[in-house]
Amino acid sequence: MLIDAHVHLDKYGALLDRALKEINEQQIFTVATAMDVPSYLELQKIGERSELVLPIFGIHPRRAADYADRLPELSRHIETSPAIGEIGLDLHWVKDATTYPAQRKVLEYFIAAAGEQNKFVNLHTKAGEKEILDLLVKYDVRRAIIHWYSGPMDVLTAMIDFGCYFTIGVEVLYSGYIKEIAKAVPDHLLLTETDNPGALKWLKKNEEIGMPAVVNDVIAALATLRQATPEKIESLVHTNFCRLIANDPWLKSAHALLSR
Ligand SMILES: [Zn+2]
Repeated sequence: MLIDAHVHLDKYGALLDRALKEINEQQIFTVATAMDVPSYLELQKIGERSELVLPIFGIHPRRAADYADRLPELSRHIETSPAIGEIGLDLHWVKDATTYPAQRKVLEYFIAAAGEQNKFVNLHTKAGEKEILDLLVKYDVRRAIIHWYSGPMDVLTAMIDFGCYFTIGVEVLYSGYIKEIAKAVPDHLLLTETDNPGALKWLKKNEEIGMPAVVNDVIAALATLRQATPEKIESLVHTNFCRLIANDPWLKSAHALLSR
């Protein structure tokens, strides 16, 4: 089965039906990451429409400033969510540095909760890579997916040593540096994502809406880079995702579905 471990399904709007049809036809297990509370509530509704969609709750660093002063309100969503994300830091694309303390406060709250509740996390790490690794170590959060890693190679190595998983996405089709990262991630920590619908539009600065099947292009690129067949990469990523969620009481049905 194909794995798209980081997607913003609630952002498809009028194209949502088409996206869900593609997910079902191509059998793409989809981790639907939230940006904030309304986004999570929407994803929960979408999740009811396909067993392949796993909605998870987080507050994106871009939305952190709106939530930093009312964190206890979030606990009921954190407690019911099977995993945590999208959370993280963005100290690069988010230019307003006055939001950084709020980003840090929200991130630490979520990582602490993930540690306590033993849930996997799905992380945005732009320019906060080392800080985020330090938090994972501090709260002993061993199951982490680092989404679209583009940071320094030495932190990548430290994250690999800690056992973080890495989602490679569409930028592997365009960027030499991302190709280097995609080659450096060891087999057992490799995952795939699309970060759709917005990733292609953002990368190519056009109006292209990324559809779920784009994950096949990522797999083809990984196969070329890692001198493997696309079938081998697909099965490797599937095995890795199964290992990540194995024995997770929150993800029994997902694990059963992936083991079918
Ligand atoms: Zn994202």
